[in-house]
Amino acid sequence: EENILQPKAAIDEQGKQEESIRPQRFADYIGQKDLKDVLEIAIKAAQSRGEVLDHLLLYGPPGLGKTTMAMILAAEMGVNYKITSAPALERPRDIVGLLVNLKPGDVLFIDEIHRLSRMSEEILYPAMEDYRLDITIGKGSSARTRSIPLAKFTLVGATTRVGALTSPLRDRFGLVQKLRFYEVEELSLIVQRSAELLNTVITEDGAKEIARRSRGTPRIANRLLKRVRDYAEVKSFDQVCENVAAEALKLFQVDPCGLDWTDRRMLTVIIEQFNGGPVGLETIAAATGEDTQTIEEVYEPYLMQIGYLSRTPRGRVATTAAYKHMGFKPPNEQLS
Ligand code: ADP
Repeated sequence: EENILQPKAAIDEQGKQEESIRPQRFADYIGQKDLKDVLEIAIKAAQSRGEVLDHLLLYGPPGLGKTTMAMILAAEMGVNYKITSAPALERPRDIVGLLVNLKPGDVLFIDEIHRLSRMSEEILYPAMEDYRLDITIGKGSSARTRSIPLAKFTLVGATTRVGALTSPLRDRFGLVQKLRFYEVEELSLIVQRSAELLNTVITEDGAKEIARRSRGTPRIANRLLKRVRDYAEVKSFDQVCENVAAEALKLFQVDPCGLDWTDRRMLTVIIEQFNGGPVGLETIAAATGEDTQTIEEVYEPYLMQIGYLSRTPRGRVATTAAYKHMGFKPPNEQLS
């Protein structure tokens, strides 16, 4: 079964459809007001001076719109973009190849930029700072360095772990912006817009029901919408209302808060086996069969956002709200 939380899972098979609903311009990019305000100013300033946009680092959980924003920036600036991710730039020649082919003003998007190899990262420093490539030719005492000028470009880096970036890399971004989880109202607009593009009739309440279960994340909202659309079609409902959305999502085991099996398992383990915590990350990973990185970057941010989990120096703790949601008596109520 496909995991709706996995960032890249459905992209290949459903990639085309995902592209068709991806916002193309600023006006279609819903929410993230702070981010948009900052970037609109940066764009206008760069355009009026006839300069390229400053390098931009976007960070936040997967599916919040980092790639989309990079594509929109290129569209608004009227330039081309190239999209890649750090694991594809393992060898220095991969990143050199990309850099030398950039045209003036181009946007280069590097996803998971915290995973760049040391050598690729060092090639990036002079490229970002002086639009220059320093290449060492030969080895040992006969080695020489040659500099090649590059077109002025904009690097947009994206990461789920801003703390994992080296400081020399982080310092070379003129703009560092955090993407936050979306409000239900914003996700509801996103669902309505996507439904229209997918020719699906949905009521406002139907859209809201999907939005509530989307973990503050547009990518998940769009995926859930597709599940609900399939359900409505098979069951011959002519529109998606609140009940249809709720029934469909229950079938797909997405609970009213958007929690899935792994979230619930995490909370259950902390509550039942460890009295609410603190529990170490490794223990939680072992109990759920997920790797620690996925737990930290995908599951925990949302559980913390909705106040079900807190991170303490000694480990993870389930909150009173988590006890209630999972149908357990909170510990303070057990005492009284
Ligand atoms: P990230 O790069 O942060 O993992 P993406 O930019 O790929 O996330 O966004 C995932 C999907 O969510 C996109 O295909 C797009 O359709 C949708 N999306 C993201 N942000 C927005 C937004 N602000 N408004 C509308 N749709 C969005």
